[in-house]
Amino acid sequence: MYPAAFEYHTPGSVREALSLLGKLGDDAKLLAGGHSLIPMMKLRLAQPKHVIDLRRVPGLAGIKDDKGTIVIGAMTTHWQVESSPVLREKCPIVSDTAGVIGDPAVRNVGTIGGSLAHADPAADMPATAIAAGFEFVCEGAKGRRTVKADDWFKGLMSTAVGDDEILVEIRVPAWAAGSGGAYLKFPHPASRFAVVGAAAMVTLDGTGVCTKASVGITGAGTKAVRAKGVEAGLTGQTLDQATIEVAAQKAAEGVDVQADLQGSVEYKSHLCRVFARRAIEAAVKRAKG
Ligand SMILES: Cc1cc2nc3c(=O)[nH]c(=O)nc-3n(C[C@H](O)[C@H](O)[C@H](O)COP(=O)(O)OP(=O)(O)OC[C@H]3O[C@@H](n4cnc5c(N)ncnc54)[C@H](O)[C@@H]3O)c2cc1C
Repeated sequence: MYPAAFEYHTPGSVREALSLLGKLGDDAKLLAGGHSLIPMMKLRLAQPKHVIDLRRVPGLAGIKDDKGTIVIGAMTTHWQVESSPVLREKCPIVSDTAGVIGDPAVRNVGTIGGSLAHADPAADMPATAIAAGFEFVCEGAKGRRTVKADDWFKGLMSTAVGDDEILVEIRVPAWAAGSGGAYLKFPHPASRFAVVGAAAMVTLDGTGVCTKASVGITGAGTKAVRAKGVEAGLTGQTLDQATIEVAAQKAAEGVDVQADLQGSVEYKSHLCRVFARRAIEAAVKRAKG
């Protein structure tokens, strides 16, 4: 398959890209790594009349530490996220998650911004975005605004970024002392997308009691969600095996689990519980050092 004809634009700045978006409206699509958009265009699931390529816009890629907040440019590739020394030191769950996306060819070209703007229901990073408390910085003609992870994922492949905005950066808080996190998934054997994925972050006090727990689930439903029941079952508790097991039983609550070729609602709900438990166990191990 090949895409329908389109006009190709290569803006040299965010301002120029925004002006094109403003002028072309619904007829335009932004292009980042193209690993989701191009296949959709080839399948004619997307037929934009204009494609605005962000790859020549300076300043949209890179990772820096801004006084305890790690700032990741939207055009930073999965590989750059996976191999970043700053992220590995300050919030390793983000690098770990990037490291299990697709294969090296996908990770070398696909971008964190493209993945989070596309919001594929089986994408990996959305679960970690919820667990690690990402903030999304969108730029439009009127300036910048910040959206919290809980308000970002709106539905199937739908996010809070406006049609006339560009996701320019993602802000990630560095782990507090006593924290640990992990992302684990049951991968589709061909694509490596998550049939179900769970990201867990915990913070333990000096006595081993959990003072904060965040858990995100992806893959099972139409969008990534926060597993609030699991978090409530962990917070204020000493995280032994039994406590984790009981809390993880609530992992599918609040997920609009979808039956598809990969499994029934029952099977995917079971995977939510199993992978939540495993991610929490790994997070606790990491928090304990
Ligand atoms: C074979 C294969 C296997 C894959 N396996 C996995 C996997 O295991 N896990 C996983 O999570 N993903 C997987 N992916 C998807 C991959 O992670 C893509 O990189 C990602 O979904 C999209 O990123 P991109 O940079 O390619 O975005 P693009 O395809 O360029 O864009 C995707 C969408 O986001 C919009 N967009 C892009 N950038 C911005 C921006 N800055 N602001 C606003 N909107 C923007 C575009 O307009 C488009 O609608 C796989 C892809 C392939 C081809």
